[in-house]
Amino acid sequence: MPESAKKPFFDLDFDSLSSEIAEAGLPKFRAKQVWEAVYEKKIFDFAKMSSLPAALRERLKQRYAISAAEPVGGKISADETGKRLFELSGGGFVECVILEAPDDESGGIRKTLCVSTQLGCAQGCKFCASTARGFKRNLSSPEIVSQLLPFAEGGRFAFENIVVMGMGEPLANFDNVMKALHIINARFGFGAQRITLSTCGIADKISELASSGFPYRLAVSLHGATNEARDKIMPVNRRFPLEKLIPAVRELAKASGRMVTLEYILIDKINDSFKDADELAKIALSLRAHVNLIPYNTVEGLPWRRPSPQRRKAFFNALKGKNVSCTLRREKGSDIEAACGQLALVTERAKSAENGGEFRP
Ligand code: SAH
Repeated sequence: MPESAKKPFFDLDFDSLSSEIAEAGLPKFRAKQVWEAVYEKKIFDFAKMSSLPAALRERLKQRYAISAAEPVGGKISADETGKRLFELSGGGFVECVILEAPDDESGGIRKTLCVSTQLGCAQGCKFCASTARGFKRNLSSPEIVSQLLPFAEGGRFAFENIVVMGMGEPLANFDNVMKALHIINARFGFGAQRITLSTCGIADKISELASSGFPYRLAVSLHGATNEARDKIMPVNRRFPLEKLIPAVRELAKASGRMVTLEYILIDKINDSFKDADELAKIALSLRAHVNLIPYNTVEGLPWRRPSPQRRKAFFNALKGKNVSCTLRREKGSDIEAACGQLALVTERAKSAENGGEFRP
């Protein structure tokens, strides 16, 4: 059976797996063994589950695919360990990147995996590489979870944190994303405080999360502290302007008891004035949120630029001067971040050039 015709293993809950085992005429404890092999030992190949009888391994292999997204070597990532490219069934690529940042607590390096939720994106943020691709489709929850798999080594994941911050708007693929996070949290045992969902600000879904109990961390891609600035770069602001977004975020922060992060890309002459810093400080203080300043990464074909280092520092100092909890991402970190959302775009271009075709956004 071709891989794509098999059922995704991550769609199976423990009861369905147990029924599958019973159907094969095998004792119950075999279901527990399979479950533990995947979720505890992190063995993602049935053939390698040596504690199982060969016939069961073969039966599972015939019927189920553990990974629902095919990792490809990729020309772009061949010499880098921190990036993986996945080809999806039906065509299209998503990238997955490990971001490294110094860990203030341990003094070591903290690794964060950046996961994608959609193929393309429909939000149309004017500065973002994913926009150029348009929206193709939502990723299924097995496709989202599968992005973790190549990063498992010796029974553990080679990262400490997950950010749902790759391609796509997670709250526009609400059910699949929530299911995927639940699998990662409840089955793989990945702590909720180590998972961050990043949204461009779909306020009604943020309110829904606040009332349904959202155990994870929330980051909001604010990027503008006034409707005027936000309207210029983020079409979502017309549907959910700041007077809708900020109360929803406040509600969620209160309900979850976790500090929200406001992501703020610094774009030259668009959102980097002292007046912008003032407005941002007001919002951050009122939400008791942390502000993460990110120098804009240039995207080929888009007119935006990052401000000079002096201007970035001045913006940061203006926030600090108002006692806002704030970080300014260093050059290196932001360069790594460039891979977030951009790798798949480059691959698609390369592939279409290979086919003699033109890249059409
Ligand atoms: N849709 C979600 C998650 C995907 S975008 C969201 O908006 O949060 C992930 C992050 O990368 C967002 O904060 C996004 O605004 C930011 N980003 C997009 N393009 C960028 C660029 N060219 N330079 C720096 N950050 C960018």
